[in-house]
Amino acid sequence: MGRKKQFIKIPSLANIKCQHCGKKSRRKVPEDSSPPYFDCDKCGKRTSTPVTSCCIICAFTNTKCVPSLVMEAKSKGLTFLKRQ
Ligand SMILES: [Zn+2]
Ligand SMILES: [Zn+2]
Repeated sequence: MGRKKQFIKIPSLANIKCQHCGKKSRRKVPEDSSPPYFDCDKCGKRTSTPVTSCCIICAFTNTKCVPSLVMEAKSKGLTFLKRQ
């Protein structure tokens, strides 16, 4: 009855969806912060974090920011993987 270790993978890039034109812009995921906004590659408009979200990565991508992933991993007792 071996217990498998579970891992949470830390992403290095995320596609953030512009809330003005819908275009996805690729951005680096910062290692120790939660970005509050980003400027679109296509229309140049700024998308900010909604008040109900942690940051633009948590709000507008299919992943989460690194601090959130680390917190989640700790709360579930999981080990988290460093980015490759
Ligand atoms: Zn845009
Ligand atoms: Zn976040």
